[in-house]
Amino acid sequence: MPSQDIERWRELGRQDLVEGLVDGHFGEMAFASRPDGSCVHLGSEGRENACSIYAQRGTTCHQFAVDSPQCHEFRRDAGLEPPLADRFVELRRREN
Ligand code: SF4
Repeated sequence: MPSQDIERWRELGRQDLVEGLVDGHFGEMAFASRPDGSCVHLGSEGRENACSIYAQRGTTCHQFAVDSPQCHEFRRDAGLEPPLADRFVELRRREN
């Protein structure tokens, strides 16, 4: 998370969000993950796929593009999509 997010959460009195950060990619801090790899803020009452801190979510979350290469990479890592090689073979099969 960029330092601006950390400053914003402090200003909002969301020190809990700051204290819940862990080491992430590229030397930045990130939200912690559960053992299954999901974000600790995923899920709210009655809505298991909703972000529980949506209004205060981080810039990284806000900018993450659905259907982007990163999105598909995470989905493959989570077993939600077949490995890229299998997907490539499937797409080639459809082309022919
Ligand atoms: S939008 Fe961000 S904070 Fe919310 S559940 Fe997803 S990764 Fe976590």
